[in-house]
Amino acid sequence: MKTILPPYADSFGGVTPGPMVLVVGGTHGDEPMGVQVIHALKEELKNQAVVGEIIVMIGNPEAVEKKVRFVDSDLNRFFGNEAALKNKPLQARLKEEVRAREIMPLLKKVDYLLDIHSTLKPSIPFLYMENTKKHRKAVEEWSVPYIISPDYNFTNQAFRSCMDNIVDAHGGVGITYETGWNQDNSHFESVLSNVKAFLKQTGAAFHDFKSNELPSAPQSLFIYKELIAQTKKFVFEKDFNNFAFVSKGEVIARDGTQCVSVDQDSYFIFPKMNIKQGKTATYLARTINN
Ligand SMILES: [Zn+2]
Repeated sequence: MKTILPPYADSFGGVTPGPMVLVVGGTHGDEPMGVQVIHALKEELKNQAVVGEIIVMIGNPEAVEKKVRFVDSDLNRFFGNEAALKNKPLQARLKEEVRAREIMPLLKKVDYLLDIHSTLKPSIPFLYMENTKKHRKAVEEWSVPYIISPDYNFTNQAFRSCMDNIVDAHGGVGITYETGWNQDNSHFESVLSNVKAFLKQTGAAFHDFKSNELPSAPQSLFIYKELIAQTKKFVFEKDFNNFAFVSKGEVIARDGTQCVSVDQDSYFIFPKMNIKQGKTATYLARTINN
């Protein structure tokens, strides 16, 4: 039986038993890659023998239309606190809160979610997900250099309020796919190929698909720390990119009169520009989870 869908979602299959898979693009309106993938899938899935059900959806259609990241507030920060989302009076809700409420029931139901994003700064592609066997299996045929996951002890709210979080919390496999820089469209074919390999792996479609990409074992990184600027004078020692590696003991920044160093070998994750006092300067990750 077909699932009742939120607006801006299309369903394929739904007649045979099997997994329920959701692919989302345009959760952020300034990331056209995911939207392009959704449009391509809508065409290709017409000719697929879908097992179970595949739902493709534009996350934040109004923001996509306006080519802005969001209209009122970041959609991907409303999936942390279900109760708060539910209880707020209707007239007080932001546009994205309304959309989050529309999407929420679907997120709780699906077996798999692939949420397709792009980064605001140039970056190599990576996956953000829980690092379990089930999650890794779903992306086993991909060529993607890094899998980023929160460390066991890292409970930062920004990472706990995304769509993938809700899917995981309800027993599914939630994956956020960062495809690279949002100004660069040249890798579309490779992104689409990974998405098809994912759908094949779930058992839902593209059963005979063979990727041209060579699968490579990605490096697993675990975010263990959020580095917060303590003063107004926080400056990095150099222009660290996403995934920049620093050795134990290395000074990475000056914060007022203090030197900031890392107490273990670390990788930069999402370093910020225009850092403000009391706000995130960067996240730090390591290769072990403990
Ligand atoms: Zn995004």
